[in-house]
Amino acid sequence: MIKSVCVFCGSCKGVNPAYTDMAAKLGTLLGKQGVRVVYGGATVGLMGTVADAALAAGGEVLGVIPEALLTREVAHSGLTELKVVHSMMERKKIMFKQSEAFMLLPGGLGSLDEFFEALTALQLGFHQKACAILDIDNYYEKLVVLLDHMVTEQFVKPPHRNMVIYGNDPETVLNELNKFEMPKLDAWF
Ligand code: AMP
Repeated sequence: MIKSVCVFCGSCKGVNPAYTDMAAKLGTLLGKQGVRVVYGGATVGLMGTVADAALAAGGEVLGVIPEALLTREVAHSGLTELKVVHSMMERKKIMFKQSEAFMLLPGGLGSLDEFFEALTALQLGFHQKACAILDIDNYYEKLVVLLDHMVTEQFVKPPHRNMVIYGNDPETVLNELNKFEMPKLDAWF
């Protein structure tokens, strides 16, 4: 069973209240199941929602925030642990190291950057941690279409595309993370 999940999500809440509702549902689930949340350490946006819900459910939360964003993203003062680091690179490095799986919720460019860095490292075999998209009200519908298009156009290999776990229910996605096994890619190519 996975003990620690890195959650990438918006530093905004978006227009649809369903994003906040689902982020809270995920945080509660992780907190109740004793799965530590690792995230960017902010109080703002869906980031803050996931952290607050996990803490309220009795869970552990590790936040990792660069000095330069302490005020902009309003560092969370109630976390189990908050690491203040010097750069965005260091933040990612620690978040990646401290987690056993990655989950993307609705977010902006930062969320996508972080998720795709984790995913490309998985594709290259630098780690074997599952990467999942927890979609809410089809926010990532067009991203999924793009992933399939990338396969059709032969820029992404099918087993790499198929490594991406996708779902719209936190419990189902968490189960998938727990079941994930790295495909034996060397044998496929
Ligand atoms: P966003 O999805 O853009 O709202 O950002 C979500 C989180 O990603 C925030 O904590 C941002 O500070 C962070 N972020 C933004 N840009 C980057 C980047 N280039 N690399 C890593 N994290 C980023």
